[in-house]
Amino acid sequence: MKILLYHRVAPIQEASSMMVHTAVDPDVFEQQMKLIQKRVVPLEESVEPHFDRSSKAIAVTFDDGYLDNFIYAFPILKRNNIPATIFPTTENIEKRANFWWDKLEFLVTKTNRKFIKYDGIQYNVATENQKREAYHALSRVVSRQEQYVDIVIKELEIVFDVMTTPEDCLLMTWEHIKEMSASRITFGSHGSTHKRLSLIGDTRVITKELQESKRALHDIIGDKRFGFSYPYGRETDYTPESTAAVIEEGYQYACTAVVKEFKNTDSIYEIPRIGISRNDARISFRLKTETSYPNLYHKVRRLLKKHKAKSWE
Ligand SMILES: [Zn+2]
Repeated sequence: MKILLYHRVAPIQEASSMMVHTAVDPDVFEQQMKLIQKRVVPLEESVEPHFDRSSKAIAVTFDDGYLDNFIYAFPILKRNNIPATIFPTTENIEKRANFWWDKLEFLVTKTNRKFIKYDGIQYNVATENQKREAYHALSRVVSRQEQYVDIVIKELEIVFDVMTTPEDCLLMTWEHIKEMSASRITFGSHGSTHKRLSLIGDTRVITKELQESKRALHDIIGDKRFGFSYPYGRETDYTPESTAAVIEEGYQYACTAVVKEFKNTDSIYEIPRIGISRNDARISFRLKTETSYPNLYHKVRRLLKKHKAKSWE
């Protein structure tokens, strides 16, 4: 079977201008859901021991907890009677705080400065192109100092001379989560602060991420067993120790972003998923959902490059 991984569902005007690819257009998303409708099962069902994952079943998941999941994806899922699982990052929701990559985009796009200097390097931000270049260069600078991301972003707020407020938050609220959980949407944890678990040396910090996010979800949607989705999700982003901690904390299953089919022999604490982005044309979506992916992964990539379809048709 296949587990699909989405992040955002939004029209182009509302998508992140620096990372447009993460937001699937709502009309396209609806067509995608119609294509797979008959095959979708709740993710929770697929991790049960009796479930045969050699079937053509598909589960739909979303990471991060963006508000556009509620505004655009939720009505489409409801209309087409499709279950889905969302993994929000609970402390960001609680504090109305954007992720660092969205904060950085906000600073780069809103600044009135023509250039800034950070760590001895000048970044020009006068034109759209310069802003985009600066965003990607600074993203690399921030990810290299990920453990201190809050400090780095605060320093950047000062040099860009832009302050973010809770109203700028792109994430859903507890109210949205409550409303969606009353109608076939289930929730799991994506950590409390989206920390890359493989970067955390102290297992107590990992445990804290797992416990606090679980507690926050319990407070809102009751005493259920939740699943977990490793922040960033590649093989290098989690460790055997963090997987052990996920099991220890009583999570039902855990999702990665490793691109593979989900087989009967796979651990339910390392569930592979297939990412869907705005760049997926109809053909690549069908290849991803209807063929033995990722055996065809490289073929798809070549096709994608050739057909780099701007539109769904
Ligand atoms: Zn994430």
